Amino acid sequence: MEITIVGAGVSGLTTGIRLLQQGWKVRIISKEFSPDTVSDVAAAWWYPFLVEPVEKTNQWSIQTFNELVRLRDNEGVECISMRLGREYLEQECELPGWSFNIPHFRILNQNEIIRGYEFGWELEAPVIEMNLYMPWLLSKFRTLGGSIESNEFDSIEEVPGEFIVNCSGLGARLLSNDEEVIPVRGQVVYIKQDPGFGRYDQRPESLTYTIPRRDVTVLGGTAQKGDWDETIRKKDTEDILSKCEVFWPDLDRQNIVGSAVGLRPSRYELRLELEIINNKKVIHNYGHGGAGVTLSWGCADEVVKLLKVNMLI
Ligand SMILES: Cc1cc2nc3c(=O)[nH]c(=O)nc-3n(C[C@H](O)[C@H](O)[C@H](O)COP(=O)(O)OP(=O)(O)OC[C@H]3O[C@@H](n4cnc5c(N)ncnc54)[C@H](O)[C@@H]3O)c2cc1C
Repeated sequence: MEITIVGAGVSGLTTGIRLLQQGWKVRIISKEFSPDTVSDVAAAWWYPFLVEPVEKTNQWSIQTFNELVRLRDNEGVECISMRLGREYLEQECELPGWSFNIPHFRILNQNEIIRGYEFGWELEAPVIEMNLYMPWLLSKFRTLGGSIESNEFDSIEEVPGEFIVNCSGLGARLLSNDEEVIPVRGQVVYIKQDPGFGRYDQRPESLTYTIPRRDVTVLGGTAQKGDWDETIRKKDTEDILSKCEVFWPDLDRQNIVGSAVGLRPSRYELRLELEIINNKKVIHNYGHGGAGVTLSWGCADEVVKLLKVNMLI
């Protein structure tokens, strides 16, 4: 039996690999491929950000955390590193559900919290260099026997095959006529300087982050809802740098090496469910907001579960 996946971002490729590993025949059909997907712009720090519903995303993010660690430790995927990061918060709050399931998580001492914040925590989590990880996923998919085709569809009804997985990200607005999917624009700056540990304020209105990778540190950010502009804006660059300088006073602007923009595929909640359209079984896997990498393996496993259950109907 063949399964057709629409989309070659992190969701489509990861889902494709999982389905092939289960013994299915899989083809991915997509309009864009790496390095031209939103997934290529992801920073990419493991952290459930800007995505709902938390009871499900907590579980999928933990499954992904464990798989990323396994890929690094057992399959030698070197573009995944473990890094420390500190999240600063305006006030004390309930700890996130996922925090109880990762090996290193602790509340910050008062003297570790920067001025203007009241509370915070530290975690160690995977950081992924997407410029290497996306080609690795594609190559893994091909090695396992998956096939790739280039095409663009106007609606899900046009997609060939009886079993379809819809991993079209923001494209689901058109493909599934789903106006709940909206862009949340993200701009980042790349700098060749290591801050030692990452620093974060993950509230969308004051979003600030310094994500240390082996190649560069990614500075962010913006979370501009409903904004379709994919050009780099000078004002945003300046805002990002001024916010990051508060968190990381040693930041040296002379080390800046680039910037990028991407539109996060946001939805009031991620859509991962079966829909039957003209006798075709369509599993939707889109709307991952700011956490598509963080949720990728957990969501792929959920697609496998849904397919197994629904193939029998
Ligand atoms: C600046 C920025 C920083 C980010 N940082 C992080 C981070 O640190 N951690 C994290 O987990 N996430 C992060 N994200 C979010 C992450 O990038 C997304 O959640 C993720 O990339 C979504 O992946 P996807 O595969 O669902 O969608 P996409 O990568 O957008 O892929 C969608 C695919 O579908 C195809 N497609 C769409 N429409 C059609 C059509 N009609 N016909 C055929 N093909 C179609 C596209 O061509 C593409 O191949 C960040 C995003 C941005 C912009």
